[in-house]
Amino acid sequence: MRYISTRGLTAPLAFSDAVITGLAPDGGLLVPESIPDVGGELEALSKLSFTGLAKAVLPRFIDDIPPSDLSKLVDAAYADFDCADVVELRQAGAIEVLELFHGPTLSFKDIALQFLGRLFAYILEARGERLNLLGATSGDTGSAAIAGVRGQPGINIFVMYPLGRVSRLQELQMTTVADANVHCLAVQGSFDDCQTLLKGVFGDLEFKRRLSLGAVNSVNWARVLAQVLYYGYASLRSPAPPSFCVPTGNFGNVFAGYVAKRMGFPIDKLIIATNENDILSVFFASGLYRRGEVRFTISPAMDIQVASNFERFLHYHLDGDAEALRAFMADFQARGEARLPPPGDEVFMATAVDAGGTLEAIRDVHRGTGYVADPHTAVGLAAARRLSVPSPVICMGAAHPAKFPEAVNEAVGEPVAVHPALESLRGLPERRTVLKAESAAVKAFIEANAGSGQRSAG
Ligand SMILES: *Cc1c(COP(=O)(O)O)cnc(C)c1O
Repeated sequence: MRYISTRGLTAPLAFSDAVITGLAPDGGLLVPESIPDVGGELEALSKLSFTGLAKAVLPRFIDDIPPSDLSKLVDAAYADFDCADVVELRQAGAIEVLELFHGPTLSFKDIALQFLGRLFAYILEARGERLNLLGATSGDTGSAAIAGVRGQPGINIFVMYPLGRVSRLQELQMTTVADANVHCLAVQGSFDDCQTLLKGVFGDLEFKRRLSLGAVNSVNWARVLAQVLYYGYASLRSPAPPSFCVPTGNFGNVFAGYVAKRMGFPIDKLIIATNENDILSVFFASGLYRRGEVRFTISPAMDIQVASNFERFLHYHLDGDAEALRAFMADFQARGEARLPPPGDEVFMATAVDAGGTLEAIRDVHRGTGYVADPHTAVGLAAARRLSVPSPVICMGAAHPAKFPEAVNEAVGEPVAVHPALESLRGLPERRTVLKAESAAVKAFIEANAGSGQRSAG
């Protein structure tokens, strides 16, 4: 299986190269040349555990790592999750919640990043190379990426986050990690500024090559791939093809659902639930993709205007027409908006939920069922309750409520949102560097901290 760029100007890459490269050299995102079809094997796949399904599905997308090695990577990645089978389906009234936050940093991102960290280490060791990872986080990605690679030989990680725009607990989950290969960069700007910096630094191809820079943000194909697994897993445990309701910002999580559906897993609708940053829900209703000002909400991991994975969806929506995609993206880049015919509601439904609706969903669901949802999951629950969906609805449980205690405790009216792993972080020593939102500052920091023994990745 080879990987091609959505922009069509990069020669096809093997899986391992796609993982190390992150963003394609032509500025596009990497997608598999074709999507494997598992529609004829659902009966057998439905009997597998989460890791069993991973071992059965991943080799269809990965043909340059022996399945026995992949199998070990999968076992190592998911060994530390604190529930019976990596993810957990919980009933919250009429809606089921697929809890994806049983990994080390308590958000769904651990599912992808525990796997990606080990994949990086494996590929680098085989090649005798080193890698400097650079990522931008709106909160949860950073800690999950750090947890995935902390202490791994051959890897340094640099994580930018918007200063004062991530919750205190999210910041502690990053800045209290003592491993010397971890560097936290607090940027004086918004998350979109961090993403712009990221694109800028990666756009300097000479710098990227010289520093062996790799990406760990949601554009890495391996992250999408790991997330496909839980859609498959949950769809095969539902009495009828379910609809998944997905709180989203970067379109990463919901795009994985789209891939799972295209693979033939029994999935009905994909419901895109955004907060007030509604660029995606506006697009799916009208075909207009228009950038607005970022609004800061109680679901901060979704405070995103430019959805980095949206380009992958466009690739399929435009039937692989790279020229049309480049024109759309250039339009958007130049004017802050671009337009297509609205996609219709055959696969996607979309709605935006404001702070009032989010808090109300936390409160109502807690009163009615005892279930405590974090504000991101609650955006999904509110969307699912609002839309009339003909199939059973599974809402993605994005984070443990204790990561966002202020909003959750306010909504419920009592201090229900606690988790011992988070409490133990308070008072630990912290390390972080505050930087201006300028790519020169970021590059200088990376250059100074890339570590001894740095050698270029051939
Ligand atoms: C990252 C994150 C999201 C948004 O995920 P996308 O990949 O942008 O769809 C939502 N909720 C939580 C808790 C997150 O950490």
